[in-house]
Amino acid sequence: MANAQDKRLRQLQTLIEMTALINSTLDTREIRRRAIEAATRLLDAEAGSLLLIDQKTGDLFFEVAIGTKSAKLKEIRLKMGQGISGWVAEHGEPVIIHDVTSDPRFFKGADKKTKFASKNMVCVPVRTRKKIVGVLEAVNKKSGKFKPDDMEVLSALANQVAVAIENARLYEEAITDSLTGLYHHKYFELRLREELEKAKRYKHPVSLLMLDIDHFKKVNDKYGHLLGDRVLEGLALALRKSIRLGDIISRYGGEEFTIILPHTNKKNAQNAGERLRVTIEKMKFDGIRITISIGIGYFDGKKMDFDYKELISYADRSLYYAKQHGRNRVEFVM
Ligand code: GH3
Ligand code: MG
Ligand code: MG
Repeated sequence: MANAQDKRLRQLQTLIEMTALINSTLDTREIRRRAIEAATRLLDAEAGSLLLIDQKTGDLFFEVAIGTKSAKLKEIRLKMGQGISGWVAEHGEPVIIHDVTSDPRFFKGADKKTKFASKNMVCVPVRTRKKIVGVLEAVNKKSGKFKPDDMEVLSALANQVAVAIENARLYEEAITDSLTGLYHHKYFELRLREELEKAKRYKHPVSLLMLDIDHFKKVNDKYGHLLGDRVLEGLALALRKSIRLGDIISRYGGEEFTIILPHTNKKNAQNAGERLRVTIEKMKFDGIRITISIGIGYFDGKKMDFDYKELISYADRSLYYAKQHGRNRVEFVM
């Protein structure tokens, strides 16, 4: 009996530690990964997964999973109510299932796809104050059976995961612009300062692109402000698709955007800018053609007292130069 109590105590200890770890980040992907790892460890299970509800369609989709071939799982979507996870999402009630294969709700598709054999599982809803956002599950207890205690622990974990996901969502909302979905000015400055600090520490270059739509007033005048907004949305999406992973894109002001290019020297920044300029020039946004001018700011990673404002001012001056010299150009002046 003392042994069982020790085990329980250790489990709760781990729950507290894992919860703190989950709440120490605002990165949603990291939260999800840690949640699954915690579920698996806490319940001594072979595998764990987190399914999130697509709020638009009501479908459930697998986020990362641990212990199974997660890449394959990512392709699977369940309808609300489908499978055990779908049932839990629909009813908002946790379940323990000792033999999944004999449960009529069990959806065999996931196992088939991953060549994993589910035997037993605990599955609990992940619920924020307002709604159910997903389902957290632990599959195949390594020894013995899942008990009500396990379900209780998993539910406690799920509550914390819900809080963490909600916090991350609110943070995301606070740092992004609602029209374009890009970061806004304040966050851009924060990131630029961070990237400059890193650049100084490791002595690597950083570049900054500052973009401004050419004659955008005319677009508004000719097509109206609403269509102008659509152009901004479309442009933001196009830019987002064209940059590299790790580049940081923000809406700097009305129709001005910035892109921080970490680890990028002047020449590569010019190439990147030119590629963007040409891409946009060829596109149409709601039937409307636009061009952009781009100014480049550059830091070589060497001057220790270099300030982020200097980098912004270099990019700004370069942009001004591009505007003065005919627009639809990429310029660099220092
Ligand atoms: P240029 O940059 O080539 O010198 O000319 P411009 O006409 O684009 O001039 P400027 O950059 O000074 O003007 C920006 C215009 O962008 C003014 C404003 O009407 C428009 N604008 C700014 N923010 C928004 C927005 O959120 N929605 C729409 N529709 N228009 C915006
Ligand atoms: Mg402007
Ligand atoms: Mg403009």
